[in-house]
Amino acid sequence: MTNDAGRQRAALPPQLPLATFDESGRRIALASRHIPGGVSSSFRLGVSPTPLVFERGEGPFLFDVDGNRLIDYYLGLGPMILGHSPEAVRRAVLAQLERGILYGGQSPVEAEAAELFCAMVPCADKVRFAGSGSEVVQAALRLARAATGRRVVVKFEGHYHGWLDSVLVSVSATPETIGDPAHPNRVAGSAGQDEPAWDHVEVLRWNDLAALESRLAQGDVAAVLMEPAMCNAGAIMPGPGYLEGARAACTRYGTVLIFDEVITGFRVAPGGAQQFFGVTPDLATFGKALANGFPVSAVAGRADIMDLLGTGSVLHGGTYNAQPVCMAATLATLRALADGRVMREIEPLGRRLMDGIAGALRAAGIPATVTGFPQVFHVAFGVTEPAREYRDLMRMDRPRYVRFCVELLKRRVRVLERGAWFLSSAHDDAVVEDTLAAAEEAVSRVS
Ligand code: PMP
Repeated sequence: MTNDAGRQRAALPPQLPLATFDESGRRIALASRHIPGGVSSSFRLGVSPTPLVFERGEGPFLFDVDGNRLIDYYLGLGPMILGHSPEAVRRAVLAQLERGILYGGQSPVEAEAAELFCAMVPCADKVRFAGSGSEVVQAALRLARAATGRRVVVKFEGHYHGWLDSVLVSVSATPETIGDPAHPNRVAGSAGQDEPAWDHVEVLRWNDLAALESRLAQGDVAAVLMEPAMCNAGAIMPGPGYLEGARAACTRYGTVLIFDEVITGFRVAPGGAQQFFGVTPDLATFGKALANGFPVSAVAGRADIMDLLGTGSVLHGGTYNAQPVCMAATLATLRALADGRVMREIEPLGRRLMDGIAGALRAAGIPATVTGFPQVFHVAFGVTEPAREYRDLMRMDRPRYVRFCVELLKRRVRVLERGAWFLSSAHDDAVVEDTLAAAEEAVSRVS
């Protein structure tokens, strides 16, 4: 929130020495004795100078074990749209905890959250809750195949839909592996993946409507699965008419259109990217900002498809689905997001950051693009035109961007090395000012 208290908290003492992270490094080394790599997600491996260990989060800040207070643009990789430890979510969770943890049955708070969810999300006649984005993508694919009686799923280069075998395909292909533009290779994302799991998954280039239409015309595609704006590899907007064209083609050929809104949902608009762009899919998946850091995800969509779960013909299980403490967090978060005020508050701050970073890079003569939404944007070094698809981003200067991130971190600003910046309603003018001052110094160190 923009207020005086926030401004005072944010003001950095001018002569603060550069931050160090030795204690985090020491603890990661110790933890590595019991946790592979010292971390519990592969995406936390290999960050420079070390994966960090945190003690506390509050508002826009994280406090690490070296005693650093960091302005945070990771936001838990997206979920913390209201910032760290927001009062409304904390209170709702504590109140629910007093009433129990897990019932193995339904709760009033689950029904309330579902009602509000369906009122907010355009495609959502009905919703089913689960625990992670990866899970609900699988549920959506199963629903689409059951509804159509078809097997083929089309996905797109660079789009990430979770770590499971069937969709971890062509997520981070390299120039050596990606293949011919007209016939992209299907590139596995991990050792140990079982190839038959993606036998019926085909990979196309995103933002190429003619290629999608011609594939769908064969009449055997169960589902088209896409991030409606591509926010994992970069922040790439759909070209004019692309989403509308994909929608029309799916309708024409009887294919289920699935938007994976795990990042864009409850972040770029109360009803997600589908509301922002005015294009309604048949099914959509959500996670992250849905519960401000609690492990909640959802698959939602057309009643006739979702009801396959209600009759029991399509199975989707989960011991922890709609766990009431998580549902209390969901309801509190949705209530905070429903009227769109949070997104509107973030907008001018995000724009100022995007413009400020782009300006600092331009002044230093560093080729870069800053693209996306004010609530989640992407900085790409080494490219000069906004990307239209994943292949455009393969030219990014990643080593230089990582050096930029390290220089920012030393100045107590924490951003993702892949280029994404997430904002929350807890970020304010003072925090943005401090960030831009740090960014100018960091730019000068890498120019
Ligand atoms: N889909 C998208 C678009 C995502 O960004 C992610 C996670 N980054 C997932 C699915 C998987 O979600 P989770 O990590 O909760 O399994």
